[in-house]
Amino acid sequence: MDKELKAMEKEKKLIPVMIKKYCKGKHKQERKAQGVKRDEVCAECRELNDYALFRLEKCPFKANKKFCSFCKIHCYKPDMREKIKAVMKYSGPRMLFSHPVFAFSHAAQMIKYKKQLKKESKSNV
Ligand SMILES: [Zn+2]
Repeated sequence: MDKELKAMEKEKKLIPVMIKKYCKGKHKQERKAQGVKRDEVCAECRELNDYALFRLEKCPFKANKKFCSFCKIHCYKPDMREKIKAVMKYSGPRMLFSHPVFAFSHAAQMIKYKKQLKKESKSNV
């Protein structure tokens, strides 16, 4: 398996972890109403999870996945895009500390890149 594919395999495992974190933190009421078990996610998050993995599988830019997180967000349906953005925003920074593998993932790269952009735009003013 080459490096790019390995990175994608890692990302595939990270998506459910991120969504689970988000669901536990943000969907307490939904979880309660649906009687969701400790290690599972609510119906909405399950749908998002399936969708995210499906997109990753179908991504036409698999071979060049360096900035996959950007392209992924762009090829999402608008409502799913908003959801995955919220998940990344919520879980991303938390994962940096709790999940060492995540620090090397695409999502972490995106967070770092965005921070850098912010810094640059500030210093240009
Ligand atoms: Zn949820």
